[in-house]
Amino acid sequence: MQVNRELFNEVMVPNYNPSEVIPVKGEGSRVWDQQGNEFIDFAGGIAVNCLGHCHPALVGALKEQGEKIWHLANVMTNEPALRLAKKLTDATFADKVYYANSGAEANEAALKLARRWALDKFGAQKSKIIAFNKGFHGRTFFTVTVGGQAAYSDGFGPKPGDIVHCDYNDLETFKSLIDDNTCAVMMEPLQGEGGIIAPEADFVKGVRELCDKHNALLIFDEVQTGVGRLGHLYAYQGLGVTPDILSTAKALGGGFPIGAMLTTTEIAEHLKPGTHGSTYGGNPLACAVAEAAFDTVNTPEVLEGVKVREQMFRDGLAAINDKYKVFSEVRGQGLLLGAVLNEDYKGRARDFLNASMDNGLMSLVAGMDVVRFTPSLVIPEADIKEGLARFEKAVAQVVAAK
Ligand SMILES: *Cc1c(COP(=O)(O)O)cnc(C)c1O
Repeated sequence: MQVNRELFNEVMVPNYNPSEVIPVKGEGSRVWDQQGNEFIDFAGGIAVNCLGHCHPALVGALKEQGEKIWHLANVMTNEPALRLAKKLTDATFADKVYYANSGAEANEAALKLARRWALDKFGAQKSKIIAFNKGFHGRTFFTVTVGGQAAYSDGFGPKPGDIVHCDYNDLETFKSLIDDNTCAVMMEPLQGEGGIIAPEADFVKGVRELCDKHNALLIFDEVQTGVGRLGHLYAYQGLGVTPDILSTAKALGGGFPIGAMLTTTEIAEHLKPGTHGSTYGGNPLACAVAEAAFDTVNTPEVLEGVKVREQMFRDGLAAINDKYKVFSEVRGQGLLLGAVLNEDYKGRARDFLNASMDNGLMSLVAGMDVVRFTPSLVIPEADIKEGLARFEKAVAQVVAAK
């Protein structure tokens, strides 16, 4: 069988349009394709591979658990799930954990819990959910409707109701939308897919205060920002604002699918037996890998190292920009960084991504105007240097073709 990009068109639903390159092997922050071409990975599978590819701690946990037990029904619990939940709750505001398999599912659980909490405590009128334009929360119908891009939720029939949107960092409008019938506010503590947009400190504090005033739950979607990405275990810990519910996925499994929703005992009580569930959620294999990822990331060395690496990226990108004048700014935090294209290159983020691939570098975009970097949290200094050198070649190529 010829396994190549052609086969994708033959056998795959066309909801993606992947590159011609088919990677077959990864080690740390280097990846090789079918032809043996080598790439440096500044994408990390979209902020997922927090420890690079095939990190020995994760491979070890996978092999060890793989020879013990993989899956049980939820009529039984398991050791890795309990150990990981204990570690997650010890390290955060949360007392309780619900496991899912993805970010969307963790958010779906958070939204359903908020609705049920409000119904139990206040009645059916309290169902309004406020979310933010450009926000992204996953692709289930509930989460995509809460997400702030109508283009992603249109065209699938009637949407879940009583969901409104507000511009991020617009506290005045937010104030006019929130009321006593608001059950929850869902936000990313730094918008990822929407273009790497950081919250203003007053904005997050103001949202928290208004949630308290109106008895609304504040849900932080930390699917992209969590597990060390911003240099804190979770972004809320750097903001000084604590949510009522937090969702985490992507880097949680370091490349193995798992998601989780974290909350307090009082709120968690409203998901009584039978109200919600997932067949694979909390399976021993995923939890064992996630536990190893968590143990490795949640150390001062790794979290401090994120800040050191952020500075290397910022310095390198600034030097490239001094030469080629392509960015208006580099924004974001930790290893969730966005190089924003200036007026001359507006809308051309894809061209930079494609040129990067030509030069042996995997990068990402966040919208049409931002080149996004979400590398491994432990990417070696030498790989950052080499990756930036390749990115410079890519930038030169785009500039020359202009
Ligand atoms: C990626 C992402 C999601 C969706 O996660 P999936 O695992 O693809 O379902 C949700 N929220 C945010 C902030 C994300 O970045």
